[in-house]
Amino acid sequence: MPIYEFKCNECSGNFEQLCRVDWEGEVKCPSCGAANLTKILSRFSSPGGAGGGCGSCASKNCGSCK
Ligand SMILES: [Zn+2]
Repeated sequence: MPIYEFKCNECSGNFEQLCRVDWEGEVKCPSCGAANLTKILSRFSSPGGAGGGCGSCASKNCGSCK
């Protein structure tokens, strides 16, 4: 599973959370418990981002993401 960075719209806190693609409704702010979040980015996203095999990194057999 990828790690996403979220920003809480209630307390303006930022945090990272390991979650599924369909994270909405499941992820909550660790500070205030709000589910009103904005996903900022994936840790595995790469600059340029073109041509990768698995969509999350440049390797076709990275074994760390799906
Ligand atoms: Zn919060």
